[in-house]
Amino acid sequence: MPTGRIPGQSGPSEQLGLDFGDLPDRLLVCTPSKLSSFADCPRRFRYGYVDRPAPPKGPPWAHNSLGASVHTALKNWWALPVAKRTADPLATLLRATWVREGYRDEEQEREVFARALAWLEAYIATLDPEDEPVGVERTVATKTSVLALSGRADRIDRRGDELVIVDYKTGRGELTSDDARGSLALALYAFAAARQFRRPCHRVELHHLPTETVAAHEHTDESIARHVGRAEATARDIIAAEKSVAAGADPDEAYPMQPGALCSWCDYRKVCPAGAQAAVREPWTAVVPREPAVELD
Ligand code: SF4
Repeated sequence: MPTGRIPGQSGPSEQLGLDFGDLPDRLLVCTPSKLSSFADCPRRFRYGYVDRPAPPKGPPWAHNSLGASVHTALKNWWALPVAKRTADPLATLLRATWVREGYRDEEQEREVFARALAWLEAYIATLDPEDEPVGVERTVATKTSVLALSGRADRIDRRGDELVIVDYKTGRGELTSDDARGSLALALYAFAAARQFRRPCHRVELHHLPTETVAAHEHTDESIARHVGRAEATARDIIAAEKSVAAGADPDEAYPMQPGALCSWCDYRKVCPAGAQAAVREPWTAVVPREPAVELD
C-alpha cells in the first residue's frame, strides 16, 4: 500500500503544520525467502508475491518433496519423549508425512524414501536426544527501521552461553563454510533469535544429511549487521518497485527479469519470457544421484 499523499490534498499533518516527509517508509513485512526471491529475480518475486491471481506454477519438484519430508520427520522426532528418540520410529515418522509429489514413478519414490531414511538414521546417531533444542521449526521475529522480519529456523541449539542456528540440507551438492557465511536466511535467523531470546547468537550451521557433513560459520556482530543491511536494501528496493507500479510504472520494468541458472528451476519458467529459453529440467532431476567423477589416467 503506497504511503504518499494524494497531490493537491492536504492531510491532517499539513493542517496541523507538521511535516512527516522525513519519516521512514512503512516496514516491509517479510521472510528471508521473500527477500531472497526479489534479490535473485524481481520478476519471480512479482509472480510469487505481487500478481493476483498468481500465475500458475510448474509441476511440483521431487527435491522439494524430499526436503519437506525429511524436515518434518526430524521435527516430529524431536517432539517424541526423550526415551523414544531412537532410530526405531524414524521409518514410521518419515512415512507418515512423506510428500509424494514430483517423482518419476513409484520405483524412484521408493528408492528415494530408502535413501532419506538412511540419511535420518545416520544423522540422529550424531545427536544427543537429551540435548533439548531451544527451538525446533521455531518462528523467530524482529523489527528494524525497515523490516518486520519473521522466519522459521529448522533448529536453534544452545551451546554454552550462545545460541546456534541449525539448517538441514538435503540437496545433492556438498556445502562449505562459505555457504554458511553467505546465507542471508541464517544470518537473519541469528539476528532475530539473539533479540528474541536475549542471548548471543553468532554461529550458523548447515547440516547436510546426504554427506553427513556440517558447514559452519561464526558470525561477528559486524557480519550479521552487514547481512541485515543487505536485507534492508532489498526491502527498500521492493518498496520502491511497489510504489513505482502504484504510480503508474510498467510492472514489467519495475520487476525486471534476471535470467540465469535459476531459470531452469523456476516455478514460473513457463509464464516468463526468459524462462522459455532455459534448459528444461524434469521435476525429479535433482533427486537423481550424480554420477561419480570419472578418473582419467
Ligand atoms: S524464469 Fe528466470 S527470469 Fe523468469 S522469473 Fe524465473 S528466474 Fe526470473
